[in-house]
Amino acid sequence: MKPEILVLGTLWTPDTRARLGELFHCHFLADAAEGAGAAWLAAAGPGIRGVLTTGVIGLDCATLATLPALEIVAVHGVGVDSVPRGALAARGVLLTNTPDVLTDDVADLAVGLLLACVRRLPMLDRYVRSGQWEAKLPLAHARSLKGKVAGIVGFGRIGQAVAERLVPFGLQIRYFQRSPGPQPERRSASLLALARESDMLIVCTPGGASTHRLVDAEVLDALGPEGTLVNIARGSVVDEAALVAALESGRLGAAALDVFENEPKVPQALLGSDKVVLTPHVGSNTVESRRAMAALAVANLAAHFRGEPLPTPVG
Ligand code: NAP
Repeated sequence: MKPEILVLGTLWTPDTRARLGELFHCHFLADAAEGAGAAWLAAAGPGIRGVLTTGVIGLDCATLATLPALEIVAVHGVGVDSVPRGALAARGVLLTNTPDVLTDDVADLAVGLLLACVRRLPMLDRYVRSGQWEAKLPLAHARSLKGKVAGIVGFGRIGQAVAERLVPFGLQIRYFQRSPGPQPERRSASLLALARESDMLIVCTPGGASTHRLVDAEVLDALGPEGTLVNIARGSVVDEAALVAALESGRLGAAALDVFENEPKVPQALLGSDKVVLTPHVGSNTVESRRAMAALAVANLAAHFRGEPLPTPVG
């Protein structure tokens, strides 16, 4: 008999759904009738041994409580901050994610956001489309990257991939993370020190309690009126109200954000600001990364139910 799994979210392609169907007896929560999710879960829950979910959706404790036979949670994504890791560990439930396969695409987006922000590409696009160019309206100069210092917050897989991409632009790299990392001479003594030493901060940490509002008003002030913040990590890592206040008062120069505190809600002050570039949490949203992430998430589930080592366990 195929193991029963619960599949959360709607991003599964027909290919992935077909592969899942070959390996497992799948319960797609999205297929439950609207408003009937709880009853549907109560009926299916007792037989479910695995969960496939996304990094954004994760798994909440109420759903976990309906799954007494759960053995494994496979997250399609590298961030596991939306999963109750303590509760899973207490029940001996395994957890996997999909590191590495998305690193290059997320790093590419971080660099794209930085360039778009520093060279003000969205604003320039609007300038051309709206006829301001033809009307010869004044246009301020942007800033160059060469010779500036890029501070990477979280020098892990994605942080290092961002750094590799920025060196050819003539940027100097500095970073901060808690543990000693590679190139120790580039590591700042603290996040605050990194912000003071940098012209731009690129946030590449995980989300969760240990990074909650790590980038606060003090850090933003240290980055300063000419500074640029790029966040591709999690919205929770940046104090969004402090960010809005810093941008509005001119204490921070600009920001490029792929992630937000209450996605998909974005504060009106950011939506109306010319100082920000906004994308809808799409760091890994390429055909190639999403295909590889789905394959790896499914491979983790399959390995578990075959009694084989997990390709990418968390922790
Ligand atoms: P990783 O290799 O584990 O790197 C994370 C880095 O953050 C580590 O070097 C870690 O070092 C550092 N870090 C953790 N807590 C910190 C803290 N409190 N202060 C400073 N540094 C801290 O993970 P990754 O693969 O690079 O992924 C990073 C994150 O990117 C993911 O967890 C996810 O949230 C985000 N992400 C976003 C998207 C998107 O679509 N925008 C896509 C993929 C991933 P220490 O533990 O030594 O501090």
